[in-house]
Amino acid sequence: MGNLRRRLTQVITAIITNGYLPGFIKGDIYRGNLKRFCVPGLNCYSCPGALGSCPIGSLQAVIGSAKYQISFYVLGTIALIGTLLGRLVCGWLCPFGLIQELIHKIPSKKFRISSKNPAKFAKYLILIIFVIILPMFVVNVVGMGDPFFCKYICPAGTLEAGIPLVLMNPSLRQAIGFIFSWKVFLLILTILASIFIARPFCRFVCPLGAIYGLFNPISFYKLEVNAERCIKCNKCTKSCPISIETYKTPNSPECIRCGECIGACPTKAISSSFGFKESERKFRQMEIE
Ligand code: SF4
Ligand code: SF4
Repeated sequence: MGNLRRRLTQVITAIITNGYLPGFIKGDIYRGNLKRFCVPGLNCYSCPGALGSCPIGSLQAVIGSAKYQISFYVLGTIALIGTLLGRLVCGWLCPFGLIQELIHKIPSKKFRISSKNPAKFAKYLILIIFVIILPMFVVNVVGMGDPFFCKYICPAGTLEAGIPLVLMNPSLRQAIGFIFSWKVFLLILTILASIFIARPFCRFVCPLGAIYGLFNPISFYKLEVNAERCIKCNKCTKSCPISIETYKTPNSPECIRCGECIGACPTKAISSSFGFKESERKFRQMEIE
């Protein structure tokens, strides 16, 4: 039931945030007032249906702008969403997360990679180098930097925007060059990896997941493990697509808040909540003592 609720939320969010139908018919993009706002997940600005802006695209755009501004609005939006939800966005609201999960359903041998694998740090390097440093310092004669992550890496942008726009616009087809081919290659790699590994892009590449993950330990939305109920059977880890030891680190930065572990726990030791459940309990206990 929890899984169905999550899948429905993912599908409805993807449809709503990409609801500009004329874009798909005309091969154009929406440029109205809603584009001033960021959607919570990684959703390419140039997707023909996109009604809002991608937080990572917006962040690079302002870092790379000629006036060298950091947009407090974009940072504030990301911080607000992170503080409230953490990586719940990744598990429930991101269209590219949904796409990877659907691809992972293709029958094949599946490989589990530990949540402790050092490859998880690659997404922080990508965030620092491609989203912040390169757009800030590699600039043209008028002082503007490229959105390096969008331009050279993002497979979500290639799938949601690059390929549909190229297919619908003959003029764009003639302009295809090495960068487009490179990005299609990265997209194919991501799709192939998603067949065999759960959410490879989210775990090892996504700079937005890297940012939201830093909020997991402090966000209002939390997982909690009742130590008295936990029998350390490890079923939570086995059910987790990211192989997190939930009973040890319920608020790991890697957790996408999918809730699989909650359903798998035989003693109902894991729960999720918005707010200060644990600290409230300690506070009440202190009052009693
Ligand atoms: S599945 Fe539940 S009881 Fe088993 S280790 Fe995880 S939290 Fe503890
Ligand atoms: S720890 Fe639980 S909620 Fe987090 S990713 Fe693993 S199964 Fe999903």
